Amino acid sequence: MKLLLLGAPGSGKGTLSEYLISKHNFAHVSTGNIFRKVIDENLEYADELKSYILKGLLVPNDLTNKIVKQELGELTKKYTNIVMDGYPRTIEQAEFLKNIFTIDKVIYLNVDSDLLVKRLTGRRMCNKCKKIYNIYFSPPKKDGVCDNDGELLFQRKDDDLSIIQERIQTYNQTTFLLIDYYKDKGNLIEVDGALSTEELHEKINSILR
Ligand code: AMP
Repeated sequence: MKLLLLGAPGSGKGTLSEYLISKHNFAHVSTGNIFRKVIDENLEYADELKSYILKGLLVPNDLTNKIVKQELGELTKKYTNIVMDGYPRTIEQAEFLKNIFTIDKVIYLNVDSDLLVKRLTGRRMCNKCKKIYNIYFSPPKKDGVCDNDGELLFQRKDDDLSIIQERIQTYNQTTFLLIDYYKDKGNLIEVDGALSTEELHEKINSILR
């Protein structure tokens, strides 16, 4: 099954991806994670990526598409279940993806904007295993430390309030258009992103059946 997760920053795409990876053997394509790795390791394009991401802007389509094509080429050889998280974010990216990859279902996580801000400001991540916590809703057992591997948790630089507002605006102006795009194609499933973890998993399991 090839899934695409659509939703605003903070709608829970990353957390849902963790569930799909650990319980349903999905391979994960997250452009945000790929870009952060390039920046952390100071690889080619690191400075260019930083200049967009730290302003809450989208990375240009050409560069994003090139990176995704490369990643998908590797993964499709090895995995049948793939979840796309944070890509596509523009109609141009969706059109590009259509030519290289067939999506079975699009899950749109719909979340109220007040909740999005709280989820983003409270988000903490483990750099090693990528587990996502939230200091308000799902804190680690020990403050600032990952339950899985004891690594220190970090806050994403773009989870700063002024950048969050830009990111939500970018989403509303651009990525939001993809909801109608996929609705028209007939494979969009809207899910309430404020459901409890158990309810969300139940819903996702029914979609996968
Ligand atoms: P995310 O981790 O998905 O929230 O992505 C973090 C940031 O990376 C976004 O705010 C964008 O600046 C950039 N980014 C991630 N995915 C894309 C994409 N598909 N197109 C353009 N920029 C992206």
